[in-house]
Amino acid sequence: MEEEKNNQEQNNNSINNITSTAFGLLKKFGSSKFKIILIIVGAGIILLALILLLLFGTVFMILDSEKSSTNGNLAFSQIGDNSGFWWPVGSNETTTENGVTFASGQPAITSISSYFQANRCLGGTCRPHYGFDVGSNGKIGVYNLIAIKSGTVIKAFNGCADNGSLNNNCGGQLGNYVTIDHGNGYYSRYQHMAQNSITVKVGDTVQQGQVIGKIGKSGRCTGAHLHFQIHVGGTSNSFAVDPLTYVDPNDPRPTASGNIIVGNNVMQTVCLTLKQEGYPDTGVAAALGNLKRESEFNLDAVNERDCRGIVQWCDTRKNELLSRYGANWTKLENQLEMMIDELNSAYYSSTKKSMLSNDSLDSKTYVFCMKFEIPGASECNSGIRQQNARQLLSYVQNGCK
Ligand SMILES: [Zn+2]
Repeated sequence: MEEEKNNQEQNNNSINNITSTAFGLLKKFGSSKFKIILIIVGAGIILLALILLLLFGTVFMILDSEKSSTNGNLAFSQIGDNSGFWWPVGSNETTTENGVTFASGQPAITSISSYFQANRCLGGTCRPHYGFDVGSNGKIGVYNLIAIKSGTVIKAFNGCADNGSLNNNCGGQLGNYVTIDHGNGYYSRYQHMAQNSITVKVGDTVQQGQVIGKIGKSGRCTGAHLHFQIHVGGTSNSFAVDPLTYVDPNDPRPTASGNIIVGNNVMQTVCLTLKQEGYPDTGVAAALGNLKRESEFNLDAVNERDCRGIVQWCDTRKNELLSRYGANWTKLENQLEMMIDELNSAYYSSTKKSMLSNDSLDSKTYVFCMKFEIPGASECNSGIRQQNARQLLSYVQNGCK
């Protein structure tokens, strides 16, 4: 015991002799009193560091979330209320929620290189061009393609190489492609997709903004691009309509607050918008038959009773129209917005219910008339509205064209 202590003292003395002041201080801290102080101070420093880390972490998280909501891109899946059709090309940045990847920000590219047309000639062969093309500056497997609206995948072909040419018949010339059934007779088709980029399979349900694959150069094509089609009423090319009737590169992510689909004229815009709102063809035709009788779709129409617009708003509803929009009451989007708001209100719930139901066209036309105009049964039964509605039904069934 004594010997051990002596040895230790000798060691300590020799260390003292050869080490600096710093080591000497360390040796002092080596005593039990200083050890306790050291532990307390150390723990304090660690605790302080943890608090600072937590604080800065939170600040960075806030900064980060602010960045993503103010960098010009819309939030991802959150804005997808499925009320309108979105531009088919997604943002470059993606986000994954519950295992589903979205590219719902502003689209990376919107330029159309070739439009929907009755006759397009390529390599000496002329035939209809059933959709529009979006060029990708030669890039293959870069740009995300997204579901323009929620739906179910009914075709997904994934077997073609990105070596498209005018003689390439892979995928029935479509290359790798996806077809989505959006319900109510609407279909979208994405062609010439990049090899192995397709992330969905037949039977999958997809959400608006969900990534389904990437632009490629497969099948019959001369360069990398998206060929995009929308069909109304069936899946074959004969049902293809001009996709620009539904998607708009200038308003690529329409939501419920601005869900009016603008057509070539007032009647087409009303027709497309009501269809998009989910009304069946007979419901849309019933409304159109009434509006035609009311105003001939003249937005400026003012009758002898001072009723105004396409619906011929009268009395308190006219005042509502004027107070809401002021001098802009003659604008189509405003009148259509008010009409849809009315249809969605509790007062018109029975009208909406009838328009959405399997009731006959005549019956729907009558109900719409009685509630929107309330002129009395004789006027609503006079037959002119019903006649209009019957005449316009095929127009509605044909995708409002
Ligand atoms: Zn094309």
